[in-house]
Amino acid sequence: MLSTAERAGVILTRKEHCHCPSCPTYRECAERAGDRAFCTIGESRDDCIIDEEKGCICTRCPVYLDVGFQKTFFCTRGTEQQQRILSVLEMRDMVY
Ligand code: SF4
Ligand code: SF4
Repeated sequence: MLSTAERAGVILTRKEHCHCPSCPTYRECAERAGDRAFCTIGESRDDCIIDEEKGCICTRCPVYLDVGFQKTFFCTRGTEQQQRILSVLEMRDMVY
């Protein structure tokens, strides 16, 4: 388990390599708030990016490839982990 400082380090490194600012879905309010690396921090804050989804370029990002993420649109749908949990819950609802 990572310490708080280690987690902060991971977020900073991912922010450095993040491609979000070049994405059509990204918005100026996120830039102003310093928000990116949504794969790790979750949905954009203060409802900055909601229901926009004009395309997601995460799959071209080195972080995405390094970590082996599978989901996309982290800024509107939440982190990889959050989306995976939702997928499991949806599947469970279909099965039971
Ligand atoms: S995977 Fe997407 S959200 Fe995560 S750092 Fe790369 S471009 Fe940003
Ligand atoms: S998470 Fe994906 S859709 Fe959202 S701004 Fe980053 S690259 Fe674009």
